[in-house]
Amino acid sequence: MAIYHNCSFCGRPEHQVKHLFGNNTSAICDDCIAQAYEALVDGDKEFAARCKQKAADINLDTLELPKPQDVKKFLDEYIIGQDDAKKYIAVAVYNHYKRVRQNTAADEVELEKSNIIMIGETGTGKTLIARTIARMLHVPFAIVDATVLTEAGYVGEDIESILTRLLQAADYNVKAAEKGIVFIDEIDKIARKGDNPSITRDVSGEGVQQGLLKLLEGSIINVPPQGGRKHPDQKMISVNTKDILFIAGGAFEGIEKIIGRRVNINLIGFDADKKRAKVDRNNLLQYVAPADLRSFGLIPEIIGRLPVIAHLEPLNKKALRQILTDPKNAIIKQFTKLMALDGIKLTVDNEVLDYIVEKAVEFKLGARGLRSICESLMMDAMYDLPSSKKTSLRVTLEYAYSKLEQAVGSKLKTA
Ligand code: ADP
Repeated sequence: MAIYHNCSFCGRPEHQVKHLFGNNTSAICDDCIAQAYEALVDGDKEFAARCKQKAADINLDTLELPKPQDVKKFLDEYIIGQDDAKKYIAVAVYNHYKRVRQNTAADEVELEKSNIIMIGETGTGKTLIARTIARMLHVPFAIVDATVLTEAGYVGEDIESILTRLLQAADYNVKAAEKGIVFIDEIDKIARKGDNPSITRDVSGEGVQQGLLKLLEGSIINVPPQGGRKHPDQKMISVNTKDILFIAGGAFEGIEKIIGRRVNINLIGFDADKKRAKVDRNNLLQYVAPADLRSFGLIPEIIGRLPVIAHLEPLNKKALRQILTDPKNAIIKQFTKLMALDGIKLTVDNEVLDYIVEKAVEFKLGARGLRSICESLMMDAMYDLPSSKKTSLRVTLEYAYSKLEQAVGSKLKTA
């Protein structure tokens, strides 16, 4: 009986290929499988979708679920500070996917979904955390802006468009999308305005919250595959949101006042002075509770569906300085790599980094500003150096100062 030691297609022997699959009559090597796969995927969309689905199933159903401490460690590589938020989110994400995997039929206790809400100033890392989690778990990820959502029938986007984005991120693999993560940004902007919503219809407020509720609690939603408004003869895709993890984020500007009031009320009475001393007035956000979200204008049902509340700290100078150089894909590391691709060695003096941070604080741009400041700083060099014979660039304080002062008058101040 012949055992095949050569690929029956390309003829290469076993030792020249990585894998050889075969039986008594023939064999095929990994390269030929890849070639056949590409040919099939090219011409057969259904086959391509099936393969992707298989890969997605393998990912979440069989891979070892990272434990909360592993999730936190992974987040630490990309996100500076925000330890509390990272810990809360690590636990919530772990529990969520544990729940997704459990076999409810065999189990009596049904685990409820733990969607997350993150509260913190803009540019403190909310989106980055959500995106990094999705990257770690290899699940489809979509970001949507709550401000563009309106109730059906009004100008704006239907709530279902959230799922269209997720489907697109999953290449229309419904099964993968159903285990994805959606980040709903600016959830605070759909807070109910005022206590009496009945006078004028609250198109972008309470109505949208009601619509979101359906998604958050887990139901089967008909989604227009291309987004936009639904129309009667459009073919819909059914998506079950039961296992989709929703992470909402918002700045909730002014919520500190609400928290402050509540904390104060709770402190009135016996022993109040002692307790008051313990309250950190400079960082009230850490005491945020569901009651504050309600006072801010989120409806109780929505708050109930976002049981994990995480707060993000404002970024101080030290954190901004670290963001420039420490994360795995830190801004300075990115510029260094960009330059290295042209054979140029970039060095940035420490005092320049401090100067960039000062500017970001001065323009009140936070972490978001670091990148635009660096772009302005490096613009001339990135334009000139690729055409020159230079092999190195040292950014000194003097150089940075001259480049940034040029830019200040124009773009940065308005950024
Ligand atoms: P938001 O809180 O408004 O969602 P983002 O997560 O979009 O803020 O942050 C904007 C950018 O600022 C990020 O892409 C990242 O480069 C940087 N950034 C913000 N916060 C952090 C952080 N804690 N650690 C590292 N980078 C951060």
